[in-house]
Amino acid sequence: MCIKHGYFRGEKCECGNYGRFVLDETRVTKLGKMVSGALRHFPHELGLKMNEQGWVDANQLISALEGKYRWFHREHLFALIESDVKGRYELSGEKIRARYAHSVNVDLDFPANKLPELYYGTTMEEAGRVMEVGLKPVGQRYVHLSTSFEEAIRVAKFRTDQPVIIIIDAQKAQSSGIKMMKVNDQICLSESIPPAFLEIIS
Ligand SMILES: [Zn+2]
Repeated sequence: MCIKHGYFRGEKCECGNYGRFVLDETRVTKLGKMVSGALRHFPHELGLKMNEQGWVDANQLISALEGKYRWFHREHLFALIESDVKGRYELSGEKIRARYAHSVNVDLDFPANKLPELYYGTTMEEAGRVMEVGLKPVGQRYVHLSTSFEEAIRVAKFRTDQPVIIIIDAQKAQSSGIKMMKVNDQICLSESIPPAFLEIIS
């Protein structure tokens, strides 16, 4: 914790300050898995009530985490959220939610996508299938799209050495009624997209 810049990960803050120690790496990982799991996949297992937009009461989550980990203190939750470089979580007043990657049936309310085109990076095999049946969320509430070609490549490289990029005509898809939302600068969430709006770039 840096007095000037808030919570950070690693040994030093960007400014070079060592700051005050809050939580060790192992516990950050453990807590992160539990919090993202609770907010994306199993709120009910922790006794959390989640509304349609994915929000849960932060104090309810804190109580649940206190019950799980003896070492847990509420500050740890806020440190985890604030220092998350991927922006996985959103805090609003006393409420908290995951911004993406839900498998629970939420109806998120992020702003509509404004980019004309979006991208989906995948393997050769999956690309072929997607061009036949469309892009559908598998085990997830929404399809996760990239906002740029480069980002789609980066994401796909976790799965394959030879990424195939599918370009999505977002404007056409959205005007046909498909909901697409901007979550952050890298990610857009979408409902299923039929092949008519998809094209493989090569
Ligand atoms: Zn700092």
